[in-house]
Amino acid sequence: MKHSIIIAPLLAVLICTTSCRSLQPTHSAERDVFAMDTFMTMKAYGDGSESALAAAEKRIRELETELSVTDKNSDISRINMANGADVKVSQDTVRLVEAGKTYWQETAGALDISIYPVLAEWGFTTGEYRVPDEATIARLLENVNAGAVKVGDETVRIPVDSMIDLGALAKGYTGDEIMDLFRGNGVTSALISLGGNVQAFGTRPDGSDWRVGIKDPFTPDENMCVVSIADKAVVTSGNYERYFTADDGKTYCHIIDPADGYPADNGLVSVTIIGSEGLQCDALSTALFVMGTDKAQTYLNEHTFVDAVLVTDDARILYTEGLAGKLEIMSDMPSEVIARD
Ligand code: ADP
Ligand code: MG
Repeated sequence: MKHSIIIAPLLAVLICTTSCRSLQPTHSAERDVFAMDTFMTMKAYGDGSESALAAAEKRIRELETELSVTDKNSDISRINMANGADVKVSQDTVRLVEAGKTYWQETAGALDISIYPVLAEWGFTTGEYRVPDEATIARLLENVNAGAVKVGDETVRIPVDSMIDLGALAKGYTGDEIMDLFRGNGVTSALISLGGNVQAFGTRPDGSDWRVGIKDPFTPDENMCVVSIADKAVVTSGNYERYFTADDGKTYCHIIDPADGYPADNGLVSVTIIGSEGLQCDALSTALFVMGTDKAQTYLNEHTFVDAVLVTDDARILYTEGLAGKLEIMSDMPSEVIARD
């Protein structure tokens, strides 16, 4: 009796706050940006949405200027052309290079920001694709070592014959920076999509989870599943975005395995990481793609702070048990839960 007296008014308040909220006209804004070689879309709700999206676009362009590997004046180009000298760079660059070194250690070298010369040799930086000869790959691999990259408070230095690129991390970090801009600036909910990186600020305006589609790597214009999230990033690395087919009939993708200098081909065709930090998800989506089916599952077993959806080259979907109830699979591919002990 006593309970129902308390619960009834409480329920009324709850119902009112959820339904009344959804009836209120919410201020919203949208913005599309082409930057970092990527078509980006952003939608935000709340009184500050317009100005927050303008600030977000400004921040994206600032980060692109600092981090571009093609712009001669960027921090990264100046580091790559410095002949082994210290280069003064922005705090963004310091933080990202530091993160690159951390994830290199953390992933046993699967993520290596100094893989760039190998990536370039395969033609991924110019579009003039070719299969390099083994001696060339072996020679270039001698200088691939993120451990040799030195980071100071305001400087970065790399060995003479090395080059770095932050392509595996930049969009994840950019997503986190945009979430920071939304915080405390009159944005109540938002969803941004930076290519394969989707990031949610809060829930949808009606309080429900955002629903984010994950592409079927075998038919990339279709979604294979939808994941429900709030305040999380969903980042996918796949072999179907940038690749070429060589004369030998084989297909080569733009993620290189630093262990042998060849495009990663370790049993996975797509890796999606779901977690609270964009940078972490971006780093791990690339790294677990390199690790391949077995090592990626071992990594996920030992690191439970992120969830993941893997697709194998023999068309199986493997997902972490944290996604149970949050993942709707539309694909015909068989699915299995990745065990965590
Ligand atoms: P995308 O940027 O296409 O969404 P990723 O986040 O997986 O996908 O990053 C791929 C990019 O990272 C490549 O284009 C290249 O610049 C770089 N890269 C490729 N292989 C590696 C690697 N093993 N470690 C670090 N960076 C890599
Ligand atoms: Mg990545």
